[in-house]
Amino acid sequence: MGFVVGVDLGGTATKIAVFNEQGEIRASTQIKTRTEDGGKHILGDIASAVRAVLNEEAIELDELVGIGVGVPGPVMDGRTVTSCVNLGWGETDVASFLERELGCKCRIGNDANVAALGEAWKGASRDTHSSVMITIGTGVGGGVIVNDRIITGFHGGGGEVGHFPIHPGVQGRVCGCGSPYCLEAFTSANGVVADYLVATGKNMSCEEVFDAAKNGEPEALAVVDNMQRLLGQACAFIASVVDPEVFVIGGGVSKAGEFLAEGIRKYYDHYVFSSIKGSKIVLAELGNEAGVYGAAKLVLSD
Ligand SMILES: [Zn+2]
Repeated sequence: MGFVVGVDLGGTATKIAVFNEQGEIRASTQIKTRTEDGGKHILGDIASAVRAVLNEEAIELDELVGIGVGVPGPVMDGRTVTSCVNLGWGETDVASFLERELGCKCRIGNDANVAALGEAWKGASRDTHSSVMITIGTGVGGGVIVNDRIITGFHGGGGEVGHFPIHPGVQGRVCGCGSPYCLEAFTSANGVVADYLVATGKNMSCEEVFDAAKNGEPEALAVVDNMQRLLGQACAFIASVVDPEVFVIGGGVSKAGEFLAEGIRKYYDHYVFSSIKGSKIVLAELGNEAGVYGAAKLVLSD
């Protein structure tokens, strides 16, 4: 009997969960992510917090099978982050550090990819072998799972669906990556807020825009419809390459629920290649916990 630790390393907070090998959470904790001094305290803090939570649960360090970590940046070989602006990191060998500190194996993955793996293990896409998750929050991220494995790609940029160059661009709108064409710039919460501001001159939160759309306000409906069209189109693009069993829509904006998913489905069916129609588009189920689940699964499926 052993235990696995899943860590979701975010720019402000780090979630840590201890799983048994059946994939049930035995204990969890959360610490602040200290990004000062180039983020040099972060990994030591994680190791200390893991030791503390294991100690509380009377679990010995040698019962630990491994630790998985989802990080907000591109990951190479399951071990090294290429760069991570939010954490103040340049190239950082996360796995070697935690393996030394904790004496067990460590695997890391990009946070959006890891969330997709979590949903595929215990969430909305469980019992499938190929799935694509699109995470819609302040930005747009994604993860592609094929044959139960994350597609990480040559540069660690696999699944970066937010940077699909899908739009001709509008004056004054640029994605965080610098491109004016990205899906993220038009379908993230920020994109929705910006579109509504352009249409009405009014500044509302993304949630408020969705509420207005649900109440039938024409301007809000048009903004949401445009967002759903772009996302449906993006799913259709992905389907032509990956042909997944299911698309999972997650992230803070997915709290808009079926209202959001329905519109994406409508446009997906309109655009998708006829031979591969029928992939499901569903809402994520694990919420903020998808990251720790997926991080633990990185270790278990290694
Ligand atoms: Zn971009």
